[in-house]
Amino acid sequence: MHHTSYIEISKSAYQKNIEFLKSDIGPKTEISIVVKGNAYGHGIENIVPIAEENGIRHFSTFSADEALRVHQVSLHNSQVMIMGMLDNSDLEEIIIKGISFYVFEFDRLEAAIETAKKLNIKAKIHIEVETGFHRTGFEWDDRDWLAKILKENTAFLEMKGFCTHYAGAESISNYVRVRRQIKEYKKFRKWFTANNLTFEKYHTACSAATLSYPETIMDMVRIGIASYGLWPTMETYMYRFQSLPESNKNPLKRLISWKSSVMNTKSVQMGEFIGYGSSYMAPRDMTVALIPIGYGHGYSRLLSNQGKVLIHGNMVSVVGTVTMNSIAVDVTDLESVQKGDEVVLVGYQEDKEITVASFGESTQQINYELLTRLPQDIPRRVVE
Ligand SMILES: *Cc1c(COP(=O)(O)O)cnc(C)c1O
Repeated sequence: MHHTSYIEISKSAYQKNIEFLKSDIGPKTEISIVVKGNAYGHGIENIVPIAEENGIRHFSTFSADEALRVHQVSLHNSQVMIMGMLDNSDLEEIIIKGISFYVFEFDRLEAAIETAKKLNIKAKIHIEVETGFHRTGFEWDDRDWLAKILKENTAFLEMKGFCTHYAGAESISNYVRVRRQIKEYKKFRKWFTANNLTFEKYHTACSAATLSYPETIMDMVRIGIASYGLWPTMETYMYRFQSLPESNKNPLKRLISWKSSVMNTKSVQMGEFIGYGSSYMAPRDMTVALIPIGYGHGYSRLLSNQGKVLIHGNMVSVVGTVTMNSIAVDVTDLESVQKGDEVVLVGYQEDKEITVASFGESTQQINYELLTRLPQDIPRRVVE
């Protein structure tokens, strides 16, 4: 079946990103690749094998269902860690499969201990502490009770990690908040160590923290966006730009390209409106090409009269509104655009490029959002 668009994922780009990240992070720290949001839209089943080819043996997910998908496709018995949603009713399967998970509340902790007892298999847990993100994490005041439970149940628990998450390491505007979080985490860590509770891995850093706050690089870093070849924000890139070697000022390479093709073309007379409503009136006699992707495929409605695509190596503009399944683009100045011609929505065509970040400029849609909104059923193929 011919699909309306497809996505290519570049293996060689991935390899370059991992090389850069490894050199930046140093040899002592493990990289956990974050594959939540269907591996940031790339597909868990595509990314896990490529990551493993590059020596990665640790993956982080948001939820239990994603963790099971990683577990299933891993060829190297990689470790899998759930950072968010795990219903107590799924604990049994997760513990049997050896998947580790965050514990940030007593309810989950108690359920994990109960399940581990019943199965006679240790639950692999990461204790998450509240340092200022205010989403999940044990509070400072929980520490005595928490330590007591952990110590009483060492027979049923494997203390895999001690962690927190920063609230916005990608922007200097959060500098004070992040610094305070680093301090809070250190305080927690010191207290637990003093109370004879130690953990296999201390980990706090996401991509932005890793790239901008080197002291947050501990035993492990949890890298998402950077591994997919995107800077968390332009600011993170600007911050690092000076320190990048002259030979490698652009070390992160986008993996993804998103392509479609022209569905049909049409002539429109000056003064006619294109598409729904009256948001675009042809200012001259025009030729438009219809492309079979729309907001139903993750191409935001905010790109109405804003978006750009590449056809024949030229940047052309979306005219009129983005509909559920299609956009019209202005190809008046191109020669003989035909049904079936390649259309690039993200990526290169000849020497022109449409970046993921460019969507943020026209619609405030951040890198993360564009990628994770790409529907799972768009075919993805891995290319060199
Ligand atoms: C998403 C996430 C990460 C990775 O964030 P990036 O900015 O994509 O590197 C790390 N840790 C936690 C807890 C997360 O939710």
